[in-house]
Amino acid sequence: MAKISINIKSGTLEKEGLVVGIDLGTTNSIVALVNPETGMPEVLGRSGELLVPSVVHITHDGMPVVGSIARQALVSHPQSTIFSVKRLLGRSYKDIEAHAPYYTYRILDEEDDKLVRVEVNGKYYTPIELSAEILAELKRRAESITGKSVNRAVITVPAYFNDSQRQATRDAGKMAGLEVLRIVNEPTAASLAYGLGMNTSETKTVVVYDLGGGTFDVSVLRIEEGVFEVLSTQGDTYLGGDDFDRVIVHFWLQFMPEALHAEAHKSLRLLAEEAKKQVCSGREFEESVTLSDENFRLTLNFDTFESITRSLMDRTLDCLHMALRDAKLSTGEVDDVILVGGSTRMPFVKQRLADLFGHDKVNDSLNPDEVVALGAAVEADVLAGNRNDILLLDVTPLSLGIETLGGLMDVLIPRNTKIPCKYVKSYTTSVDGQVKMSIAVYQGERELVAENRKLGELLLTGIPAMPAGLPKIEVTFLLNADGILTVEAKELRSGVQQNIEIKPQYGLSDADVERMLLDSLSHAKEDVALRMLVEARTEAEQMIYTVGRFLEKNAALLSEDEIITTKQRCESLENALSNPDKDTILQGIDALNEYTRPFAERLMNKAVSSALSGTHIDNV
Ligand code: ADP
Ligand code: MG
Repeated sequence: MAKISINIKSGTLEKEGLVVGIDLGTTNSIVALVNPETGMPEVLGRSGELLVPSVVHITHDGMPVVGSIARQALVSHPQSTIFSVKRLLGRSYKDIEAHAPYYTYRILDEEDDKLVRVEVNGKYYTPIELSAEILAELKRRAESITGKSVNRAVITVPAYFNDSQRQATRDAGKMAGLEVLRIVNEPTAASLAYGLGMNTSETKTVVVYDLGGGTFDVSVLRIEEGVFEVLSTQGDTYLGGDDFDRVIVHFWLQFMPEALHAEAHKSLRLLAEEAKKQVCSGREFEESVTLSDENFRLTLNFDTFESITRSLMDRTLDCLHMALRDAKLSTGEVDDVILVGGSTRMPFVKQRLADLFGHDKVNDSLNPDEVVALGAAVEADVLAGNRNDILLLDVTPLSLGIETLGGLMDVLIPRNTKIPCKYVKSYTTSVDGQVKMSIAVYQGERELVAENRKLGELLLTGIPAMPAGLPKIEVTFLLNADGILTVEAKELRSGVQQNIEIKPQYGLSDADVERMLLDSLSHAKEDVALRMLVEARTEAEQMIYTVGRFLEKNAALLSEDEIITTKQRCESLENALSNPDKDTILQGIDALNEYTRPFAERLMNKAVSSALSGTHIDNV
């Protein structure tokens, strides 16, 4: 798809604008580009202001301001300065309720399960619009530095982001005037920046340790033949550099009178961050502040800092061990460890990881707050068609399927399938004359759909009335490179068809995705037993239905005795249904089957035999 765009600065026409990589962070965002001359990715920005704080301040006349200026308004205008909007993207109030006190601005809570909105001075803003402001600022920067128009981007998201959060990120890009070529996982981008995955003949196991401003994520990736598979993710969405700052503030508070604590809390935050950075770069910190006309001398040295924040550091390592355990790996099986996020500049982070994995495995040669954007730029370059040597693929984290008879999950796209991908499967009706069929789409690993997450539903109407088992309904799942699913159902004999794009209203929390995966493992045995029971019941119900229809239509073919015996066997099978014992049900099926088989032969009724075989979807 060729595009023409106008460069506002130079006034010239350009056939195709630049493609950039964007790390849309919780605390800071950054834009990068592969330099066409060197072929190397570079962060775009003037020195000293490469990072754009992900903060949007709404002025009293309703104008949004983004970046460092907005960040200064955090203390002076807490109600009209939006920080951490990434935590709200694609989320409902229910998702964030537990952390509501964390936000200094107003988040509307009218509707539990709709996407949240933020209110500033009587005006409402969606997290998508606010994120779009940040993206638009990055786009403007990139354009003013390169002198070219920028209209396409690759944007990164945490590996645990669900469909809804990814879709919201994509929408924010669109709103900022960017065609989003792909949404990429942050750990994948970080690995790419280090060149991992470029050599398709090697298999690597990589740990990406990402400690940012407000969040901690650790991901274990397997890179094989250029495919990035997320083996596990763990983390704490409320643990980051800010918490280290807070510990420093608390440390200082003990030298101040209680009456000043509330005031000091607010005004010392930025100073604490400065102190942290200073001691981490090897200089002691000393500064005097005046609070309510009283002077205080604040000091901090590295050893004190390390000891008062040790428990926070330990928490990140606990997460890391959990991630390794989920991936069933020992530290010795990890080939590379990648440091991501500004907070990994604290020297003990590298030290502790080197102690665990060995010095030579820890990669920190790239700037940790740029590495995600740099990797996104590499991917952008590949997608723009500038390189033919690499092919980048991703995989789907959870299985996708539809509900079949008895509430069973029938998987069309198994978990960890490379995307984009397309799967087709045929189904039929279970009742004579069925003219519509509902196709409910689920995501998850459990055998019963009730235990999985419903993504959406599709109603196929206008199926011509035919005996059960005759219509041929083809269901197609198309999963595009961003993980967005399109489902299509078509009745082949008549050609009627329906399709939907699955865009859930709100999605799973990070904890939910993990729980679903763990659940599926711990319930695997009982799920199989349950599936067998459900299948037996379903088969029995089908059988009773079919035989009932046969008796109604073809009673003339049978003797009085045969009718009575058939009805009796149907009844005892019916009784067995309430029993949670699949063997009794199967015996009942066999008994009925054996007795009625000669009747079917007598009639050579196609409808009966075809209704007894094949997969059926519940009738509507
Ligand atoms: P995010 O991914 O959440 O947007 P970043 O990766 O930009 O966040 O990390 C921001 C955090 O990194 C802040 O808490 C900041 O204080 C911390 N940080 C930045 N530089 C340093 C440094 N030199 N030493 C310690 N912490 C730092
Ligand atoms: Mg980050």
